[in-house]
Amino acid sequence: MKDYLVKATAFNNQVRIYAARVTNTVQDAQKRHGLWPTASAALGRTLAVGAMMGAMLKGNENLRLKVTGDGPIGEIVVDANALGQIRGYVSNPEVHFQYPNGKLDVSAAVGTKGEIQVIKDLGMKEYFTSAVEIISGELGEDFTYYFAKSEQTPSSVGCGVLVDTDNKILAAGGFIVQIMPGATEETIIKLEKTIANIKSVTEMIHNGYGPEDMVKEICCSDNFTILSHLDISFVCYCSKDRYAGGLVSLGKAELNQIITEDKGAEIVCHFCNEKYHFTEAELNDLLSNM
Ligand code: ZN
Repeated sequence: MKDYLVKATAFNNQVRIYAARVTNTVQDAQKRHGLWPTASAALGRTLAVGAMMGAMLKGNENLRLKVTGDGPIGEIVVDANALGQIRGYVSNPEVHFQYPNGKLDVSAAVGTKGEIQVIKDLGMKEYFTSAVEIISGELGEDFTYYFAKSEQTPSSVGCGVLVDTDNKILAAGGFIVQIMPGATEETIIKLEKTIANIKSVTEMIHNGYGPEDMVKEICCSDNFTILSHLDISFVCYCSKDRYAGGLVSLGKAELNQIITEDKGAEIVCHFCNEKYHFTEAELNDLLSNM
């Protein structure tokens, strides 16, 4: 089953809903980075939210989510765009904490102090950056708080990742429910009640729910319209050429030093863990073209 998200409208356009299934994408991230279960959950939740926030963009716009808490996982970084392409990494993939009931303790990995930054590249000269403090470290609540504080859009964010004992990702996804201006008190109360009692994202996805089924669950009815679908996958835009450009930008002196001391260079992409090897001859070529 491929990963995708839907964007829907419900309650007579008073509510906007995004729902995503990203199980394969998180599995891909798990394999690339060797994530331990709680690290998979933390990165996977952020990937799910990133995918949906990417779907709020247009054209070539893109965004970066950066969660910097005081927990052992370090930084969580996710890039997303309007095409459903997402990528991400954590500083320390070998992090695992569980609650006594066996559930993955994401806040122990992320920490409960720190900030969430959202950096948007909307094709203008400058990036738009907004930040809020981390309030729980479980990430769903933190992104809910982000939307209320930074985007002034009352939203409810749910996200979850279910990991098997052998690190296999059994389910991953999320939803974002946004209240549009002009929504009635009645609609808001009804939604709050439903969301407070809704099945967890992982339960829904693990039981075979697709994004449309999640929207139905949130609306408690068929009274919604799917506006669009978007396929989601882990895509990194790194290449050997890009890293060659990076080596050139170090300058002649430093490049010379690398050639003399290391007789070559190996560069690892943070985002996808792909390794690029440059031989001594290749580095000399770069140097002579500078
Ligand atoms: Zn890469």
